[in-house]
Amino acid sequence: MARYREAVCRLCRREGAKLFLKGDRCYKPSCPIEKRGTQPPGQHGNSMRRGKALVGYGQQLREKQKVKRIYFVLEGQFRNYFDRAARQKGITGENLLALLERRLDNAVYRAGFATSRRQARQLVNHGHIAVNERKVDIPSFQVKIGDAISIREGSRRNPHIEGAWATAAGRGRPSWIAPVEDADMSVRVASLPARDDIDRSINEQLIVELYSK
Ligand code: SF4
Repeated sequence: MARYREAVCRLCRREGAKLFLKGDRCYKPSCPIEKRGTQPPGQHGNSMRRGKALVGYGQQLREKQKVKRIYFVLEGQFRNYFDRAARQKGITGENLLALLERRLDNAVYRAGFATSRRQARQLVNHGHIAVNERKVDIPSFQVKIGDAISIREGSRRNPHIEGAWATAAGRGRPSWIAPVEDADMSVRVASLPARDDIDRSINEQLIVELYSK
């Protein structure tokens, strides 16, 4: 299976922004962006000028790379999401973000079962997640309104999951995901993700412009 092999903190430094790829560490002073700022990675990072604003194609490309990295999606998959978004009714950029947001690995992260999307993908791949009480181990699975997403019974005492779940309320959940009362480690998809539920720093219009050339 194709996957990212770069050290994830380098990806944040490359994009010049915190992408929150590494769980708890992202919220601590030990985050490299907190310690060293947004200097680009590599031996020449210090001499590269971050202050020079990107424009046009360069800016569009960087925005696409940033979103791919936030959701840990490779180029071919990303392009497929875009094509699908363009065929849907509504605003293509918002459709694209909603499709990414509805991936099961993202929903697991947003629900609070994991402290990062990367960890969430591992939980899905390793069979810890159920949708409507059936095991689903496909990270790209699209969740829909009414779906119940839960930790499978045998995995509920996993210390990583327990730790993430215990701190999830403090990090906050998006409005489209609601904990299920009287159910252990279970949430329900209450609505489709709206633009306000998704990272405001993303400029999805730049991605639409890039792919529309
Ligand atoms: Fe990015 Fe998190 Fe690493 Fe900070 S700790 S650079 S936010 S992945």
